[in-house]
Amino acid sequence: MNKFISALLCLILLSCSQPSTTTTPDQNAGFDAYKQNFILRLWKLHPGWASSLGYHNFDSVLVVPGKDRLNIEKQFYLSERDSLSKFEMKDLSDFNQTDWHLLSDFLTGSIWGIDTLKSYEWDPSAYNVCGSFSEMLNNNYDSLDRRLKSISIRLHNVPAYYQAAKSLLLNPSQEHTQLAISQNEGGVSIFEKEIPDALAKTNFTEDEKKQILASCDLASKAVLDYAQWLKSLNHEHARSFRLGKTLYDQKFRYDLASGYKADEIYQKALARKKELHQKMFVITKQLWNKYSKAEMPSDSLAAIKLLIDQLSSNHVKPDSFQTAIEKQIPELVRFIREKNLIYLDSTKPLVVRKEPAYMAGFAGASISSPGPYDSNGNTYYNVGSLNGWTNERSESYLREYNHYILQILNIHEAIPGHYTQLIYSNQSALGAAEHVAGTAYPGIIKSVFGNGAMVEGWAVYTELMMLENGYGAPSGKNSADPEMWLMYYKWNLRSTCNTILDHDLHVNNLSKEAALAMLTKEAFQQQAEAEGKWRRATLSQVQLCSYFTGFSEILALREELKEKMGKDFDLKSFHEKFLSYGSAPVKYIRELMLKDLPKH
Ligand code: ZN
Ligand code: ZN
Repeated sequence: MNKFISALLCLILLSCSQPSTTTTPDQNAGFDAYKQNFILRLWKLHPGWASSLGYHNFDSVLVVPGKDRLNIEKQFYLSERDSLSKFEMKDLSDFNQTDWHLLSDFLTGSIWGIDTLKSYEWDPSAYNVCGSFSEMLNNNYDSLDRRLKSISIRLHNVPAYYQAAKSLLLNPSQEHTQLAISQNEGGVSIFEKEIPDALAKTNFTEDEKKQILASCDLASKAVLDYAQWLKSLNHEHARSFRLGKTLYDQKFRYDLASGYKADEIYQKALARKKELHQKMFVITKQLWNKYSKAEMPSDSLAAIKLLIDQLSSNHVKPDSFQTAIEKQIPELVRFIREKNLIYLDSTKPLVVRKEPAYMAGFAGASISSPGPYDSNGNTYYNVGSLNGWTNERSESYLREYNHYILQILNIHEAIPGHYTQLIYSNQSALGAAEHVAGTAYPGIIKSVFGNGAMVEGWAVYTELMMLENGYGAPSGKNSADPEMWLMYYKWNLRSTCNTILDHDLHVNNLSKEAALAMLTKEAFQQQAEAEGKWRRATLSQVQLCSYFTGFSEILALREELKEKMGKDFDLKSFHEKFLSYGSAPVKYIRELMLKDLPKH
């Protein structure tokens, strides 16, 4: 759990001194101070970002975008990079070395974003204030009166904000334009209804209320005018949603900080897809007669698909979905202890809960972790209920999250996946630095800039690792049934094909038809899932690769260490040491782990 000092006022009162550049006895103390002050300067520059992470001191500020503003940001990043370069890597602890890399990568990536990617010229969905106002109104971090006070000041800049957005946009892509229209139109009710409704419950004077209502009116007009303006754009010269090879390769490097290049991961994903198909066909041939009287189709992919369809009918009833998940958690813990796979802190059991009302409708399962400023927040495993769903909808959902996949989902989201990783990450932070009253949580850098490929890669890696160690094996056997393996391979195809889709769509001009054909025929996805994936890939870049990239890197690192350490390699120690560095990019963790190898 993030033990964060809630006295935020103390943070603001801290002086913003630059780090000492002379060699001090302990560079780590200087670096810790630098990180604290850096975060404060960053929040001052990005009040909206700060607010979304629970730091509310600048809530009344709405930054108006523009060329001048971009220049201010760039100067900030350049100057921070300069400050950072004054620290000698060799003098820093392992924990601070990875923080140093995270900061350096963030600063360099941000400068690249301003100078080269320039999404502020082509992504109109980047301009939307509705969500941030809504969060301030609905999140009870302060009294309603005080939150509305900040909101009332913040409202003044909304018209200027959208005016500036229009002048920055040069050639928006059609897809991002559509998204911006629907998100802005969908969010405008915050100014038309929600803020006015909340205002009625306050002690503001009639005059104050009138002024705020007038600002709300101007804000909603600005939002709708922006949406109207986007609709009127002539898309003749619209930029393509496809990033193209040069930008894609760079974005891959900055966002994922992987030891592999984009092309290498793409080649690995193609090879993995082929390997998975072969493994699946072997199982299909083995199981065919057990499940079907018909003759097996000669096309291997068609045969695999039929068998998967058959196995998907093995699922729980809608009303026992939640209990099925709850029952599996202690099973996972028992298995991990029995096989000695990783130490699990028994003082921090996972809190399984029914998903809160505001998440309702998504079903499934997800981890909610407290942000870096949420002092004693719990980490929850939210489990959705299928109450009120139509039979057809819940049947399709339960077939997707069938008996086999549900277990893999629990491994991924909870134990030893995301939940376990999070606990290690928080502990690494607390162990790394003396936690001084009035300073930010020591893990703040990893919490804010944590590497997505490492985090997702770990969760994907644990799925395979558990099965490799016999998870799901019937009693008396040491490997899971072939049915379980077949379904695992199907699940693994998803992150593999996400990578292929993302790369082919942005780099190789993949058509929508070809993409849907790949996802439905080769990754065995339902049409609706495949359509959703296509849309997500047109709107984002590189993120869909994070799962497979991190997975590949962690697996490669494990095999490398096995080979280098021989009989000294121990799986449990590997897992614990790997996680002890926190949510850092795998390539930096690798450097540190190799450095610590016993010399022969
Ligand atoms: Zn069924
Ligand atoms: Zn995940």
